[in-house]
Amino acid sequence: MAALTQPPTVLTFEDARHLVERHAALVNPGPRESAELLASSGRVLAQAVVADRDFPPFRRAMRDGYAVRAADLVRLPATLEVIAEIRAGAAPEELPAKIGPGQAASIMTGAPTPPGADAVVMVEYTSLAGNRVTVARGIASGDNIAPAGSEARPGQTLLDPGTRIDHGAIALAASVGHDTLWVFRRPTVAILATGDEVVGISDTPGPNQIRNSNSYSLATQVQTAGGESRLLGVARDDAAHLRRLIQAGLGDDLLLLAGGVSMGKYDLVERVLAELGAEFLFTGAQIQPGRPVVFGRAQGKYFFGLPGNPVSTMVTFELFARPMLEALAGMTPRQLRFLHARLKSEIKTRTGLKRFLPGLLSGEFEHADVELIPWQGSGDIASTARANCYVVVPGDRERIAAGEWVAVMVK
Ligand code: AMP
Ligand code: MG
Repeated sequence: MAALTQPPTVLTFEDARHLVERHAALVNPGPRESAELLASSGRVLAQAVVADRDFPPFRRAMRDGYAVRAADLVRLPATLEVIAEIRAGAAPEELPAKIGPGQAASIMTGAPTPPGADAVVMVEYTSLAGNRVTVARGIASGDNIAPAGSEARPGQTLLDPGTRIDHGAIALAASVGHDTLWVFRRPTVAILATGDEVVGISDTPGPNQIRNSNSYSLATQVQTAGGESRLLGVARDDAAHLRRLIQAGLGDDLLLLAGGVSMGKYDLVERVLAELGAEFLFTGAQIQPGRPVVFGRAQGKYFFGLPGNPVSTMVTFELFARPMLEALAGMTPRQLRFLHARLKSEIKTRTGLKRFLPGLLSGEFEHADVELIPWQGSGDIASTARANCYVVVPGDRERIAAGEWVAVMVK
């Protein structure tokens, strides 16, 4: 068996993440395909969305009230003659030719502001008697009117390719008349579990065997990152079998392996990859769980060797594989950022590694509290499934007191 040809490279968490990001910035997404507007939600935009007209297309009233000349409201209270009522959707010929001095028009939100008027007074600050309205508050020219083209001009780019399509993007696309959008094809991701102790979920495990959960957690994560997973099953801890399945997985856009990257005698993944000509970009990160995580490239495809402990597999996917998959899906790279919450009870740990520990966020509104969920280590799926976040513990902290702010990565 060939030995690893390259020395192991263990990076800090931040360096490892940045290295993945640098590679991700250079990958090409697949071809584009057309999707119905609603079906494009969650996909990645493969075209620019461009304004087809002025936004707003006319001088839009932003409040229900009265279209006025601000100069008429210098001395207060002021009484004006109401000469028209303007509904949203009113045609140009329905508008008064001009609001003259001493005049006003009753107007609704979303209606076109008539010529002559330069502000809209909110109805709350007025009282109407017959056709005369008395205004109690002054107003500046331009108040409560969105000028035509103030949000966007025709031809202006509203959404760039690479945008993940959310409800705001859908609203914009709808407002410029798209009933379909060009999106990037979803990249395919091969998922290969490894280990002689791992059996299929429909098999009956022997007394010292466990069912394959990693392929399924990974497939779920792949889906939320915009990929399409292809489950390659479980490779035995046997070089020939592993090689055959890795070779098959290198046919996809990205290969994820779970297990077999630790220091054990039967952790064969790196050796087999090396035999297949792999280049290793890192072979470990100073994190827990997930320290033996591997990132590299073979036969023109990127791969991640994720440690097999189920929580390590989940965490290392989020930290390292997700940005690469998002890039393959066509997304513009974004930086990883954690939120902060107040620690409910003290954390004591050892220094040296940055830790991502299953946590429970609680509290409400501006008050986010977090505490660790007691767990039995990175094999403990039961505790992790109850967690709604990971608490990020810096590598130089032995103790974090209750009441301190800590970073969390929301699950
Ligand atoms: P490894 O990274 O291969 O040393 O595996 C570490 C631990 O994770 C071992 O206890 C394995 O039994 C467990 N494990 C490995 N692969 C899987 C899998 N596909 N599903 C669930 N547990 C796994
Ligand atoms: Mg194993």
